[in-house]
Amino acid sequence: MNSPRPPSVDALARSLSENSPLPQPLLVDAAREAIASSATGSGSDDHTDFVAVASAIATHQEASLLQPVINATGVLLHTNLGRAPWPISHPTGYSNLEFDLSQGERGSRQQTVGRLFARLCETERAMVVNNGAAAMLLVLAALASGRGVAVGRGELVEIGGGFRVPEVMSQSGAKLVEVGTTNRTRLSDYQAALTRPSADIALCLKVHQSNYTISGFTESVEVSEMSTLGVPVVYDIGSGLLDARCPWLADEPPQWLAGEPAARQSLEAGADLVVFSGDKLLGGPQAGIICGRSDLIERCARHPLARALRPGGHVLGALQEVALAYLRRDGQSIPFWAMATKPVSELRARAEAIASVALDQVVVDQVAGVQVSEVQVAEMFSVPGGGTLPGVEIPSAGIVLEGDRGEELRSHRLVARVSQDQTFLDFRTIFPYQDEDVSNAVLGLK
Ligand SMILES: *Cc1c(COP(=O)(O)O)cnc(C)c1O
Repeated sequence: MNSPRPPSVDALARSLSENSPLPQPLLVDAAREAIASSATGSGSDDHTDFVAVASAIATHQEASLLQPVINATGVLLHTNLGRAPWPISHPTGYSNLEFDLSQGERGSRQQTVGRLFARLCETERAMVVNNGAAAMLLVLAALASGRGVAVGRGELVEIGGGFRVPEVMSQSGAKLVEVGTTNRTRLSDYQAALTRPSADIALCLKVHQSNYTISGFTESVEVSEMSTLGVPVVYDIGSGLLDARCPWLADEPPQWLAGEPAARQSLEAGADLVVFSGDKLLGGPQAGIICGRSDLIERCARHPLARALRPGGHVLGALQEVALAYLRRDGQSIPFWAMATKPVSELRARAEAIASVALDQVVVDQVAGVQVSEVQVAEMFSVPGGGTLPGVEIPSAGIVLEGDRGEELRSHRLVARVSQDQTFLDFRTIFPYQDEDVSNAVLGLK
């Protein structure tokens, strides 16, 4: 059998350019890869095989570019899909990122947004870094490098993506001093560590067990008790719930929030610093926020790592929008809270509208459309996700399709949940403006 003679890279790349929006250098790469991988060909002398392989490579490459997707998984804070949805848009132009417009002098990028968060948490000061992990790293490096940090053994948390409290601790130069046991830690355990001179405790750290629960014979120490120990108490609350009373919602706080630590109440209870993520329950862009005592935040701000971990202007601009929405008590303008509080009846109505279009299509064309029995509207459960609120389920509604339709739907940039040979489209995480695309994706199923 003769291998087909490969086409020239340029000719192959040119033929791809008719159907692919990728820039020429990437099409050339796809063509090269296709030719290299098809070294042993089918024996035919035309180039259709090469074109097919190269365009599959180009399509794969195109799909890997960062782009909007429809999240039909019902996981509100889907870490693979960027956690909380928040638009970052910016016209071309400058901003007063580090310029004081009223004085005409150099300003601080931390000041304005920091002040808004301090106001929201009713505390002295706040600063913003790149993410929650960076906030922890900075706090530990600035306040405890070379010294001991007491942490309850039940709080040596690992968050997805490799954030492990002991490892962040060692990177910061602080020494982990474990106190208590996995299931039980008492105030006297912290006191014992504090009286050991060799432990040299600079601060006590409390870490919220964001993504797991320990149940049964358990005991842990509240922030209010820890605040009597005589050293600063830092509380990593993780998810960024600002206020347990949720004054930005028209109704009472949702049931599923019960027990989640909130920044404001933790500070009121005596935490000296509270740190949290921007893109979990806060509902904003990826960021880490440190709130609390001014003198401690000053030490963080002066530490050389602060420069390395600082956020860009786009993120600060987006975070400012979030903070202003909270101050206006306008939770409905924060996409996470709007989604999280949508009544099931509304979600069901949207799912029914799409299912009925599918039904009409079947009537019009029995062959092309999906079968009506394969499109069902059903109640289902969303989850907060993002390593927050383990075990919590939020009643929801959506469409159930028979079989695993995940791959077909992904070709429409729609990510669904597949379980036990059924495909679930949860409308809680689908924005109403996306319904038409969802409908097209469902109608396009073979
Ligand atoms: C999520 C989380 C972090 C990490 O925050 P990122 O913003 O993901 O870096 C740290 N601590 C706790 C308790 C968390 O829940």
